Amino acid sequence: MPLLDVKDLKTYFRTDDGIVHAVDGVSFSVEKGKTLAIVGESGCGKSVTCMTIMGLNAKRNTITEGQAIFKDRDLLKIDPDELRKIRGNEISMIFQDPMTSLNPVYTIGAQLREAVQLHENVSKQVANSRSVEMLKAVAIPRAETRMDDYPHQFSGGMRQRVMIAMALVNNPDLLIADEPTTALDVTTQAQILKLMNQLQRDFGSAIILVTHDLGVVAETADDVMVMYAAKAVEKGGYEDIFYRPEHPYTWGLLGSLPRLVAEGADLKPIPGTPPSLLQPPSGCRFHLRCTYAFSPCVPDVPELLPVGGESASDHAVACHLEPEFRRRESHDLLHEVMAEQQV
Ligand code: SF4
Repeated sequence: MPLLDVKDLKTYFRTDDGIVHAVDGVSFSVEKGKTLAIVGESGCGKSVTCMTIMGLNAKRNTITEGQAIFKDRDLLKIDPDELRKIRGNEISMIFQDPMTSLNPVYTIGAQLREAVQLHENVSKQVANSRSVEMLKAVAIPRAETRMDDYPHQFSGGMRQRVMIAMALVNNPDLLIADEPTTALDVTTQAQILKLMNQLQRDFGSAIILVTHDLGVVAETADDVMVMYAAKAVEKGGYEDIFYRPEHPYTWGLLGSLPRLVAEGADLKPIPGTPPSLLQPPSGCRFHLRCTYAFSPCVPDVPELLPVGGESASDHAVACHLEPEFRRRESHDLLHEVMAEQQV
């Protein structure tokens, strides 16, 4: 049984200009102890997907449909008080910028203790010692004394470690990390990713990692869901997406990954820009940027279907191209990338 099973999730926002289709029929699941990466360009709906699961969208303007089953409870339908108890306890979230999540006028220690005592009836001493242990687990030096420091006294990387400590202090079953390393330099990013992998091994939490960076995915993910314009266009295991990708958008993402391109070789950006979600394009939402688009792509919305063949059965793609053609193109793309790496 998956820990979290999301089915046909839709999140629409009412705005003065009309309805924004921010998430439009997305399904996925996460298993205990595994990491699912949700990948795509800014504005494709990956963060809104997580905010919806956590019940953090403003109720007044939001229309939500579908299911998010977590331990036999539908997070989209349960009582707000029950959801509040789950948040920060059974499910935690880390955001991109820790400064917006940490309160600047309270010490780190006070905030960590509060996170413990909000969900458990324990003494201040117990909350304190658990907080110190957690700061040590995320490799904050002199954890006991740093409990008395304020967020501004920590560097960006240290603040993100504190956020991870706060998210994990109640040993959640599921950690949702929304671009947790985007604001950090490359060295600190590598440290944080290593730390998240380590903590996942130690605590057995499942992770949903939201990112636009395929390099980060390569470091951490067991499963990957690629989103484009509010829909999932490809899903599969890490190896399916990196070694047997079958969607033209995934090919575009892999082709434009700077780390895979050798010095002197051309970067291949995906042409055009993502469409407006106020009036999403008809048919395949990628057709305006897809160099493979052909006649069925405009009227017919491609379904996300298992690719079959040699790939694992949970590898699925939403594209009208013939499976044989997709596999050939995928093979050629990979061949090209490998050749460029050897330049
Ligand atoms: Fe391109 Fe058509 Fe496939 Fe969409 S369905 S990705 S437009 S080939």
